[in-house]
Amino acid sequence: MVRRPLGNHHHGPDTFLVTPDTQQTELSTEPTGRAAELTEQATEQTILVTAHDQQAAEQTEPVAAETENLRELITRARFVLFDFDGPICRLFAGHKAEVIAEGQVRWLEERGLHGLLTEGEREHPDPHEVLRAVDRRHTGSDLVAELEERLTQQELRAVDSAWPTAYADPLIRTWLAVGSRLAITTNNSPRAVRSYLATRGLEACFTPHIYGRTQDLHLLKPHPHCLNRALSAMGAEAEASLMIGDTPSDFQAAEQAGVPFLGYARNARKEKLLRASGAEHVVNSLELILNLLRAHA
Ligand SMILES: [Mg+2]
Repeated sequence: MVRRPLGNHHHGPDTFLVTPDTQQTELSTEPTGRAAELTEQATEQTILVTAHDQQAAEQTEPVAAETENLRELITRARFVLFDFDGPICRLFAGHKAEVIAEGQVRWLEERGLHGLLTEGEREHPDPHEVLRAVDRRHTGSDLVAELEERLTQQELRAVDSAWPTAYADPLIRTWLAVGSRLAITTNNSPRAVRSYLATRGLEACFTPHIYGRTQDLHLLKPHPHCLNRALSAMGAEAEASLMIGDTPSDFQAAEQAGVPFLGYARNARKEKLLRASGAEHVVNSLELILNLLRAHA
């Protein structure tokens, strides 16, 4: 039996148990690379938890308090807004974002538009940053529309090699089963989101509430636009909602929309970024959320 940490595994021990069978089911549905990563994580977590056990006695209280905070955050949410890339899948697990961004930079160069990007934007390209940079300099132009469409095509291609986030599928179904309404609020193309959800049989869990990138690129998160669209379409009060995201821009968008936030960080680097941006609640696995939700149901 493998014990896994509760939420932020740097801060305390955990009381949730996962049987090897559960682990195995999760592993068997994942591609080899992902399976290796999960095994690595499980090993790392086991070691961490063993160390935590030694301090368990003095740390029980803060952990219980954090669990209670999470339980309240989760069970209060009548409307759950998911970011897509991160909490639901790793969209660019196979078709890398850096490769897409480099392709965008090359495409601009081939058109003699090399000068549209700064050196930094060319050297450390991020597909959304390249798009935003061009939009800032040529807002609403055909060039921006074409670059956006090219990114959408690349995202659609990435869907084929995306890795499902562990426990995301059962979490989505469970949340729906306990009566919450769900939306996707993302900077990715809604077409890519629909395409991915269809491969998992999850489209109906969200339809029609999928709010992604539009031609108005200045309204991408951290702007709260997609969250506000979701709240308005669902007739949802911000306080009765919850945003689950994996980046500081998700947290900032939620803050601006007045929506409580739960961070999902698949590694220590992502957790550090989220906490530095001010996110108070961060979990390292969606399993914890799923368990809390099931216990409450
Ligand atoms: Mg994300």
